[in-house]
Amino acid sequence: MQKISENIEYISADGNPLSCDVGIIHGGKCDWIFDVGNNENSAQIINSVSKPKNIILSHFHIDHSDNLKKIKYDNLYCGSFSRKKFSDGIEINRDLNIKDEINFTIFPVPCCHTKDSVELLIDEKYAFLGDCIYPMHKDETEKQFITQDSFTKQL
Ligand SMILES: [Zn+2]
Repeated sequence: MQKISENIEYISADGNPLSCDVGIIHGGKCDWIFDVGNNENSAQIINSVSKPKNIILSHFHIDHSDNLKKIKYDNLYCGSFSRKKFSDGIEINRDLNIKDEINFTIFPVPCCHTKDSVELLIDEKYAFLGDCIYPMHKDETEKQFITQDSFTKQL
């Protein structure tokens, strides 16, 4: 686990099987999990969290969502397509502000990567963005797709 701040940690992405970064934010009453990943390590860590668990799913792709079937949780926040796919969840179709000692804003973002991208802003200081900045932009000079790393460095 990597620590971002006093209350925010994340499990790093992995490639075998492909599993996304998993954010764990420790609120006052609940633990908030941003994406659940797709590997056993992430599932075990998520299940070991002691407070009630609220899951925020950035989108339905398997590397972000497959552990849903392996973990116990209290609430799921997701976009409309994910809600239909998993037959569960509180649909995010506009900004939702929640205070749990920490200020959370869960919000939809139109993006070219997926149908229903949902993101998380924490205390207006940190953001978990899922794959919404995943590159779909073609570099005109290099004629190659820009990698996510190089795209991030341009920001
Ligand atoms: Zn994706």
